[in-house]
Amino acid sequence: MSDVHSVAVFCGSTMGNDPAHAEAAARFGTALAHAGMRLVYGGGKVGLMGVIADAALAAGGTVVGIIPEFLRAREVAHPGITETVITDSMHTRKRRMFDLADAFVSLPGGLGTFDETIEIITWRQLKLHDKPILIADLNGAFTPLVAAIDSAVTAGFARSESRALFEVTTSVEATIERLKHLATVRGGASALL
Ligand code: AMP
Repeated sequence: MSDVHSVAVFCGSTMGNDPAHAEAAARFGTALAHAGMRLVYGGGKVGLMGVIADAALAAGGTVVGIIPEFLRAREVAHPGITETVITDSMHTRKRRMFDLADAFVSLPGGLGTFDETIEIITWRQLKLHDKPILIADLNGAFTPLVAAIDSAVTAGFARSESRALFEVTTSVEATIERLKHLATVRGGASALL
């Protein structure tokens, strides 16, 4: 039985060029709901963010969106989700997403997704938390980012243990299976921040 009941998902506020990304995001949202896991995400209705939220809701899941006031219009705050939390800044948004999650999953996205993924990894590197992080490298979307991290290890700028701070999965199904079998620290997610 997994300790993971609430999953923060980072993903694109656009659809990307390959329709496979939206299809995968929808399957992931549906599977999260079927697994009884709450979706915590950036609160928008646009791009893959909107797709995953719609899919989780349609499958009967609970969806919490965290969105800064200044992005409510730009990222079109999703009106139909279970709960919306409005924050005063991007930093507060990240912090609230962190607090509400037992684990993190990155799906394909752009610079915002990269930023959120790297930040949650670096917080773990600094031992500010010990929550699991999965990078879902669907259709190769994260292969260059993971290669950049590997390259930093080779160059001596990151320790080889850095690679143990996150796991890479390559399909929606494998990501969900991993979430179902993850044990968070000491029987519950640790929040040392
Ligand atoms: P993107 O991957 O660029 O489409 O962005 C995905 C999500 O990340 C959106 O909700 C953005 O608002 C968010 N985002 C963009 N930049 C940042 C940042 N510096 N810190 C936190 N979130 C960000």
